[in-house]
Amino acid sequence: MSDNKIPYKTYLTEKEMPKTWLNLNAFMKSKHDPFLNPATGKPCTSEELEAVFCKECVKQELNFTDKEIEIPEGIRSFYKTFRPSPLVRAYFLEKALDTPAEIYYKFEGNNTSGSHKLNSAAAQAYYAKQQGLTSVTTETGAGQWGTALSMAAAFFGLNLDVFMVKVSSLQKPYRREVMRTYGANVIASPSDTTEAGRKILKEFPETGGSLGCAISEAVEKAVSTPGCRYVLGSVLDHVILYQSVIGLESKAVLDRLGVYPDTVIGCVGGGSNFGGLIAPYMADKLQGRNGTEFIGVEPASCPSMTRGKYAYDFCDRAKITPLAKMYTLGCGFMPSPNHSGGLRYHGMSPIVSKLYADGYMRVEAVEQSKVFEAAITFAKTEGILPAPESSHAIRVAIDEALKCKASGQKKSILFGLTGTGYFDLAAYKQYNDGTMTDIIPTDKDLEKGFASIPKM
Ligand SMILES: *Cc1c(COP(=O)(O)O)cnc(C)c1O
Repeated sequence: MSDNKIPYKTYLTEKEMPKTWLNLNAFMKSKHDPFLNPATGKPCTSEELEAVFCKECVKQELNFTDKEIEIPEGIRSFYKTFRPSPLVRAYFLEKALDTPAEIYYKFEGNNTSGSHKLNSAAAQAYYAKQQGLTSVTTETGAGQWGTALSMAAAFFGLNLDVFMVKVSSLQKPYRREVMRTYGANVIASPSDTTEAGRKILKEFPETGGSLGCAISEAVEKAVSTPGCRYVLGSVLDHVILYQSVIGLESKAVLDRLGVYPDTVIGCVGGGSNFGGLIAPYMADKLQGRNGTEFIGVEPASCPSMTRGKYAYDFCDRAKITPLAKMYTLGCGFMPSPNHSGGLRYHGMSPIVSKLYADGYMRVEAVEQSKVFEAAITFAKTEGILPAPESSHAIRVAIDEALKCKASGQKKSILFGLTGTGYFDLAAYKQYNDGTMTDIIPTDKDLEKGFASIPKM
């Protein structure tokens, strides 16, 4: 059997590692609509964006022409501490499913932050340091992004303030402690350290905070502190550019093994791991070179793409960020407290939104209990305890493999395993105790969110 030639795990050698990122924007024949300044209704200029973000990130955000962008030596050097990540042929899962499909996954959880977010944290911290900045700020909900940025800030010698949603900092004290161990200053949000925080505290003294509020505090801190900028963990084009390292490594390995995937699957929160994983294969598709199918997977509790509107909306709840044209449930949408913190975002990357609107990919919304069922099948067969977010991709990969079993088709399926679930054991406990519920918003619930989308 030719299958036996494919090893269980494959890594690139140091020499084979990507030296450039892949810029999907340069391949898209029809480009996504630009970010708008809500005050003027005009496209954001680089000067406006540079007041908030690092210069080089802004330059890349607005680059729609260069297909490849060099990964600076300083970033490749930091990548050595946790890359390459393994490309795994899921032989044990295939066997358990008794499927003729070949299943491959790219495992991004092999670093202390436990997710792919370190790929973009590395780049953003590097560029901040290059610019001569002394500090950066960000917000974190579940904590993966804050942890990743803490590691990168420590490596490149930057101070970091993380505004952590108050309820999360109480529920996940160990996440907070990992960040502090890497030197980050973790502030429970809302806090009395910013104008935005003080205002919210005065109005709602008992509030547990929200991501939107934490973003407001982090942005305010960045623009009011000399030598400081704000960094974002998903959604933006430059974040997807940095995450293309996932897809490029995957493709380099699979090319070597002589495999070209028929189906590529990833979970979608803000769209960064999915956009990065699909990048080289989607670039081929945009050039008419393949018939590969792309599937984004979102939680049924926060169905931005399958039930959202394609419209200009704010990226945050406080309505201080630029407007982005994207699939959105409305910046005022309040997702139910399900366990995939990283997928509870009201909007979606403008790049992924545009690919979906133009018919280059499809999206499936899956229920939490089915996601955990898949997570447990995966943990028992492949050994890794997956993050709830990643398990959305596992669910659909399993479903696709079972369709192959029913039809006898022998497809190659690649999915992104974005992280590990060690900090999500409260969710696993609920599943094991049989107390997990599936909350799916009604059309009426969604209408409330849609009402918060600005009228253009
Ligand atoms: C943040 C996160 C996600 C979702 O973010 P994207 O920007 O959509 O990739 C998925 N998986 C894990 C483990 C995460 O931490």
